Amino acid sequence: MLDLKRLRATPDRPQKIDESYESVTEASFSLQGKVRVQGEAVHHRQKISVGLQIEATVVQACSRCLNSVLSALRLDELLEFRPASAVEDPLTSEVYIYNLEEAMLDLKPYVMGLISNSLTVKPLCRPDCKGLCPKCGQDLNTKLCGCVRESQGDPRFKVLEKLL
Ligand SMILES: [Zn+2]
Ligand SMILES: [Zn+2]
Repeated sequence: MLDLKRLRATPDRPQKIDESYESVTEASFSLQGKVRVQGEAVHHRQKISVGLQIEATVVQACSRCLNSVLSALRLDELLEFRPASAVEDPLTSEVYIYNLEEAMLDLKPYVMGLISNSLTVKPLCRPDCKGLCPKCGQDLNTKLCGCVRESQGDPRFKVLEKLL
C-alpha cells in the first residue's frame, strides 16, 4: 500500500516500500511462498515515481506435459503515476493514473501485472520435454506408452481436447 496522502504532503521525500504477499494464485500462474516487494516512492510535482524490486517464485504449467515449472523471479521496475488531469493521452501513455481523492494506493495489482508481463508464454519443464501422449495422456518423460504415435497434427491440441 502506498500512502498517497503522506507522499503528496512530503514532496521529494522518498517513502520506503516493503511489503510481501502470501502465495498468490492468478489465472495463468501462481506464486509459491512469499512475494517480496521492496523499493521507494517519491512525489514530485504531481508525479509519483515508484521503484520496485520484486522477488517471487513463479509456478507455471509446462506447455507440453502440464507439470509444474518453478522459476525464481527478480524484477527491477520503475512505475510512474500521475493524476488523470496531468496525462495528455491516457490510452497511449505508459503512465499509470492515480486518483487525487484516494489516500491509499494498492500496489499489488501492479506488481501482479509486472510479474505476468515478464513470464514466458509457453514455459517448458525442460527444453526437451516430450509432453503427454495424445492418445492416453501418459507423461512421456517418465514412461513410454504403447500407443502408436500419429505424425499428423499437433499433439498439444489433442491433449487439450481431452481436457475439455
Ligand atoms: Zn514438460
Ligand atoms: Zn499413449
